[in-house]
Formats: sequence, C-alpha cells, structure tokens
Amino acid sequence: MYRLLIITLIFLSCHIQAQESLVDSKGKTILIKNVNLIPMDKETVIAAQDVLVRDGKIAAIGKTGSLSGTNNAFVVDGSGKYLMPGLAEMHAHVPPEDNMPAIQETGMLFALKGITTIRGMLGHPTHLVYREKINSGEITGPRFITSGPSLSGGSVKTPEEASAMVRAEKQAGYDFLKLHPGLTPETFAALVKTAKEVNIPFAGHVSYKVGVWRAIDAGYATIDHMDWFIESLVPGIDTIPEASVGFFGLYVADRVDESGIPKLISGLKSKNIWVVPTECLPRRWSSTVSADQLNNSPEMMYMSQKTRENWVNAKKNMLQNPKYSAEISAKQIAIRQKLLREMYKNGVGILLGSDAPQVFDVPGFSAHQELEYYVDAGLTPYQALVTGTVNVGRYLNRNDIGTIKVGSAADLILLNSNPLKNIKATQDIKGVMLSGKWMSEKYISQELKKLVKS
Ligand SMILES: [Zn+2]
Repeated sequence: MYRLLIITLIFLSCHIQAQESLVDSKGKTILIKNVNLIPMDKETVIAAQDVLVRDGKIAAIGKTGSLSGTNNAFVVDGSGKYLMPGLAEMHAHVPPEDNMPAIQETGMLFALKGITTIRGMLGHPTHLVYREKINSGEITGPRFITSGPSLSGGSVKTPEEASAMVRAEKQAGYDFLKLHPGLTPETFAALVKTAKEVNIPFAGHVSYKVGVWRAIDAGYATIDHMDWFIESLVPGIDTIPEASVGFFGLYVADRVDESGIPKLISGLKSKNIWVVPTECLPRRWSSTVSADQLNNSPEMMYMSQKTRENWVNAKKNMLQNPKYSAEISAKQIAIRQKLLREMYKNGVGILLGSDAPQVFDVPGFSAHQELEYYVDAGLTPYQALVTGTVNVGRYLNRNDIGTIKVGSAADLILLNSNPLKNIKATQDIKGVMLSGKWMSEKYISQELKKLVKS
C-alpha cells in the first residue's frame, strides 16, 4: 500500500514536471534569436535579427549576434521563423457576467491564438476587475479595453435615462460606451451630448431610427459591422420599415445605388470615424456556407454544445427566412467588399474585428479568418495586417502597440512562414509573447487542451 502511494506520488510529480510553463521577462531577459522581423511600420521583412525582451518591453533589436546583454538570456530560436506584432480583436466579447474563471478562459483563448489586445463590446462590472487584474499583472490575459453595459432601446427609454447611464458608465471607469439598436433620435442626442460633456467615446451599432448620417455627425469612435452602410445607399430607405431591411441591409442589398459610396466614405473620413468591419458575420452567419460545415470546424471544440446548437439554429433561421436568397447574400458580401476596398483606399481607418464569440466565430480563431476575408475583398496581406496592428496603436493613441521597435510592449507572434506572402500564415503559430510572457508552441497546445468544451 505504502509502496503504491510512493509510486503514485512519483508518477504525479513527473506528470507535473512535464507541464510547460510561461517564461516571464519580468526581471529577466528573453532573446528571440536569428528571426525574420516584420516590424509593420512599413511593408518589409528584415532578415537575421535578434530581439531582446526585458520586463515586458522590447529592450533591443539588432543584427544576429550583435546585441549585448544576452548572457543568461532565455533563448527562443527564431531561425526560419517570422516575428510580427501581436494582433487585436477590436470587436470581442467576454462573458458579461460575474464569473471570473469564464472571463479568464475566454481571454486566454484569444491570447493563445496571438490576439494580444481585445476590445470588449459588452461591458459588465466584473470586466473592470478583469482589466485591473491584467494591468497589474496579477493574472495573464490580453490587453483589455472595455465598453460599459449596452445602451439600447431596451436599456434607455428616455433622454434623461440616456444621460444618466452615460454619466454612470464614465464614473464607473469604462473606456467607452457600447451602442446597440433601438435608440431614437432623442435618446441618441442626449447620449451624445452627455458623452461629450463627460468625455467618453461611443461606438458600436447605428440604430435604425438614428441612421448613419446622424451617427457620422455625432462622431462615433468606431462604427462596427458597417452597420447602416448598405442602408444608406438604398434610395428611399426612410420609407422601408426596419423589419424589411434585415441583417445589416441583407434584404435591401439588391437595391443599393453605388453612386452614393464616395459621399459615405468622405463623411466617415471627415469625422475621423474608424470602422470595425466584422466580415465574419456576412461570410459565415448569413452566407450560404452550411451550418454543418461551420459546426464541424476544429475550433468549435472550444465552444459548449449548447452554444454550438444555438449557433446552428441562428444560422438555419437566417437562411430559412422567405426573404433570404443566395443571390442577395452574395450581393451583400460584394458591396461590403467594395466598401472595404474604397475605405482603405481613401484613408478611412479600419480596425480588425470579427465579433467573437458570435455565430461560428470562435475567440482567437475568427480574427485570423477575418484577415483572410480582408484579403479576399482586395486588401494586400500587409494592408490586412495593418488593421490588426499599426491601426490599433493609432486608434488607442499608443505609440508602443502595433509595431516592433525598441520600447514597444512585447506583444509578439512568432510564425512558421511569411504572412506578407500568404495571410493564412498567421494561423501557423510557433509561439506568442503576451506582455513579455513567452508562450511556446508546446505551452499553447497544452493550454488550449484545457479549454476544450465539446
Ligand atoms: Zn458584438
């Protein structure tokens, strides 16, 4: 009996030792050696570089073998690999509930896939605690920016309620306000007025009765989902009831007059409004791709059975609507792709955002699929990557995010091949550095296994 216990203990301790751990650069040096560097400040690959990370920041960059201070460093072999800045999911959701373990799990799913910054789009008081714990280093998770609880037709019935809610969210310490459908011109006007008084940005959906022109005038920080873009291009839209318009203009996509596109784009540009496209929604939820095919994708294992069933039903409902057709879905996608190209070409700021978790968009995974959709729409791989890196730093007004340079936050992805040649390369991850914490390929797969749900 005693012997068995000892054998069991030995077995357990071996098992524990086999666990791969994070390597934290706090008080210590990590050297990524001989790597192809993609700094993202311009479209370039710099061969044979060493990158030195210390205390969560990039301490030095130089030709392989040229840096000092590398003695005793933890070395990551970058030979044949490509190092790019960490990506951001600018339309993320973490569970809006008082369940810190669930919030942390979602955050880790993003981080393990190289998404080192997330922008939470449906806030909850517990998210403020989560943000604080990440910022203080108490827990490991992606850099977190969060909206407050949703302002919508449901939560805001009068202009007074709108103002009160804006003040309360500012007071509570949320980074910005999330707008959902159902606001009226009156509640929206009160919301905007108070948001400007207390200095808090607002972002998200454009309510049907508000319309994109009021939204542009008001100065949204970001319009997400390209909400109301298609609608704004349909002549006589104000005579069409909201229910007949469908999911982001799906049912009126065949009535678009494209000659209105330049006016829409110059409006967005003139007010410096950023756009978070979430192309995953029309490409996955409302496209003709079958629910079974999406539900069988490997990444669905990280979602619960219940969530997957809800997603299958949501997609089936969408496709069974008598107004739905393959043609109209294709039309919606084509117009959005044109809008995306035109926005990029004309200098409207685009931010990478896929809306995850949302129907068949799995946290971490869908941001990479979103990049593919941008390239599909006609952006080059570099331009697509800009939306998830350089632009994020610009949007957040942070000089230390989104490019690789000395002094930047050590948010990095090590890839097996060159994403500037093939955007799918972002999905072939060798390692991730999250605020200076190195997560090897082995660590990533070990931690992902713990997050499998179904
Ligand atoms: Zn969302």
